[in-house]
Amino acid sequence: MKLSDPRILAALPELGVERIGGTSLAERTSLGIGGITDLLLIRRHSALPDLIVLLRGASVAYKFLGGGTNLLVRDGELPWVVLQLAHQEPDMRLEGNYAHVDAAADLGRTVTFCAKNDLGGMEGLIGVPGTVGGALRMNAGAYGMQIGSYVRRVELYRAAEARIETLRQNHISFEYRHTSFAPDDIMLAVKLELPSKPYREILQGIRVCNEKRRSSQPLNQKSAGCIFKNPPGGSAGRMIDELGLKGFSVGDARVSDRHANFFVNVGRATSADMLSLIAQIHERVHAAYGVELENEVILWTE
Ligand SMILES: Cc1cc2nc3c(=O)[nH]c(=O)nc-3n(C[C@H](O)[C@H](O)[C@H](O)COP(=O)(O)OP(=O)(O)OC[C@H]3O[C@@H](n4cnc5c(N)ncnc54)[C@H](O)[C@@H]3O)c2cc1C
Repeated sequence: MKLSDPRILAALPELGVERIGGTSLAERTSLGIGGITDLLLIRRHSALPDLIVLLRGASVAYKFLGGGTNLLVRDGELPWVVLQLAHQEPDMRLEGNYAHVDAAADLGRTVTFCAKNDLGGMEGLIGVPGTVGGALRMNAGAYGMQIGSYVRRVELYRAAEARIETLRQNHISFEYRHTSFAPDDIMLAVKLELPSKPYREILQGIRVCNEKRRSSQPLNQKSAGCIFKNPPGGSAGRMIDELGLKGFSVGDARVSDRHANFFVNVGRATSADMLSLIAQIHERVHAAYGVELENEVILWTE
């Protein structure tokens, strides 16, 4: 969508919001799929309430983009604009066992920064691409840990109240790839509490996790990580693999040969190719096991 409302266009510079017209989401998502729209880069958190009131007042639909590593986006001219927090330094600081981190910070950098300061716990998150904000929304996790366990406080824009608020941990629930945040909440910053651990020990854990990823995931191909959540007590990847579906493809969208729950874009896959692949694999698993797999990937395909 190309923003054309003169009131919005005039207000953006005052709000410290940069408009990047004609942005291709194929270039901003790890799957490399997605159409074109205007991207609004937000440099000041405090601008969000006014910006969103303006967009809503003009009936401009919007979506919020983190690092784009868990998204499947439709092709063509997109019917909404995309908001994103600009990355600004410094984006993290420590205070004893607490890390205060901006939502736009890179998750991997956060893990290593904390590790170098003898704060551990998040070793499993090394290799999870994307931002801290995206990790909070998704409750990202791996190898038996999840970011939610370390969250003490989240600063966020609450669309329902149209203002910025701070939520304490006892008001947030983090479950497997699910959180109690409202769909239109926008995470701005987080306070994490991390256990003290010597750097050498943390580094050892990081190396083990890195090695597990390298040996089991198609890290040099375009993907959005796992497409489906694991069903209770099961493994989506194992079921897909047992059905002999590694390598199954629709156009250039393909079930990875390496990890059956990673679907990769091996060339010029369209959103429709990837959606069809997801639907067909979902159907085959349901027919064979009676299990309704739930998407882990977020669809912006409507
Ligand atoms: C190779 C690879 C490996 C992966 N491995 C793992 C893994 O081991 N474990 C795991 O959990 N995930 C994994 N993922 C998936 C993905 O990296 C995570 O879900 C990540 O946390 C998404 O963050 P993001 O910033 O890229 O979010 P995006 O993909 O940009 O967005 C995902 C969702 O979060 C919302 N969002 C993003 N930022 C914010 C914010 N600040 N406030 C509110 N909502 C926001 C978006 O609107 C969207 O709904 C992997 C992905 C890849 C490509």
